[in-house]
Amino acid sequence: MLNSSISTPLTNAAIRLEYSAQTGLHSRRDWIKGLGLGATAGAFGMLSRAEAFAADVTAKAEKGSAPLRITQVRAFAMRPARVNLIVVTVDTSEPGLFGLGCATYTQRPAPVLAAVNEYLDPFARNRDADNIEDLWQNAYTSSYWRNGPVLNNALSGLDMALWDIKGKRAGMPVYQLLGGKCRFAVDCYSHASGRDLEEVEDSVRSKLEEGFRHVRIQMGNYGSEHLSKQADFRDAGFGLPQDRLMDELPYIKATIKMFEHVRNVFGDGLELLHDVHERVEPRDAIRLLKELERYRPFFIEDPVAPEANDYFRQIRAATTVPIAMGELFNSPHEWVPLIKDRLVDFIRVHLSQTGGFSVARKIATLAEFFNVRSAWHGPGDLSPVGHAANLHLDLAIPNFGIQEFSAFNEATQEIFPGCPTVKNGYAYVNATPGWGVDFNEGAAKKYPIDKAERPHYWEPVRRRDGTAVRP
Ligand SMILES: [Mg+2]
Repeated sequence: MLNSSISTPLTNAAIRLEYSAQTGLHSRRDWIKGLGLGATAGAFGMLSRAEAFAADVTAKAEKGSAPLRITQVRAFAMRPARVNLIVVTVDTSEPGLFGLGCATYTQRPAPVLAAVNEYLDPFARNRDADNIEDLWQNAYTSSYWRNGPVLNNALSGLDMALWDIKGKRAGMPVYQLLGGKCRFAVDCYSHASGRDLEEVEDSVRSKLEEGFRHVRIQMGNYGSEHLSKQADFRDAGFGLPQDRLMDELPYIKATIKMFEHVRNVFGDGLELLHDVHERVEPRDAIRLLKELERYRPFFIEDPVAPEANDYFRQIRAATTVPIAMGELFNSPHEWVPLIKDRLVDFIRVHLSQTGGFSVARKIATLAEFFNVRSAWHGPGDLSPVGHAANLHLDLAIPNFGIQEFSAFNEATQEIFPGCPTVKNGYAYVNATPGWGVDFNEGAAKKYPIDKAERPHYWEPVRRRDGTAVRP
């Protein structure tokens, strides 16, 4: 009877308050709320739907206003797919509520583990897990000297985990916390490569058959050592035999031929991308880009090294080829000038390398106002948590450009239930609260990082005479 007299929550709000005072309804609602049974009680007719909803909202609000303390921050390293991955878990004072972040720095896992377990853990304990920005700002300066891939990746592990916790508390995927979706899914590019034109063609064809509309094409590995036999430094005994050769002229000629061939075979209906990987001199990069202009690349990535950022003004003046840059950036002094002066078309930072999700969403917003679109770094040396963070941001920002994506093997999926998936060239997140990715610590232990299997560093890359080449 009480329920039927209170049907619309807004118009009858005042009546309800008065009625509560007279009948003790508030205490009854408190009791139901205390049990966390608002919706259940509503379903059984003990409260009206409006009251049940109000009880649940009040319970959640009160729960949300109590400080949620960080109880432990831990970093875990694993190697399920031939690259070292690091994830961070943040445990809280609410039993069972934890967050996951990506802190992967494949080439230097040990110092990131130490930065998290020996420094960020004691720093963060007992602090309020809800205040993400405050924690980020203070953790960032907690080492006094800051930036750099070790400290930024460690910080990212904490930062992303706090966003995961925030989403879980809200009962929403993280993209909802940013304002919801701007697109139904995330358009991705995949990698096609081969040692010669035929192999590249076959690789592109298989990517198109998988449904990708954007394909990155490479002739072999970066710089394509097999395109030249003239590793004179090896004959001279300079360096070590495994040091790699990067001979500029064969690479530039082969890359132009590759674009010509792929356009001739597949026409103009697909989008082509290419990564120079910073291995040519700036003047040669400009020459290459001008030659590639006729093949309408979607973008050319990393035409010069970050140390040569000042060349982007000249590159811009010389060619209309869209430029993507930024995967090595770890300081605002690197990305801010390129964005504000509109010197690149796509900003492609590695989220954990910049310090985490909090930083990347600010970069995205800055870029929006300068017509720079996103192309976050998304290779294999990124955990599924990092990939999910990329995708949540991609879904929510208006200036999304394209997303690099790498498939996960079975071992990775075993460790990280809820991995993002790709269908018809579109990536989808698991839309459960937070990142939608879980962590199976037991499964991770089956894939320890193995220092003997493969070095944790880039082998030196040299010109014919042995001169070192970046990166
Ligand atoms: Mg790259």
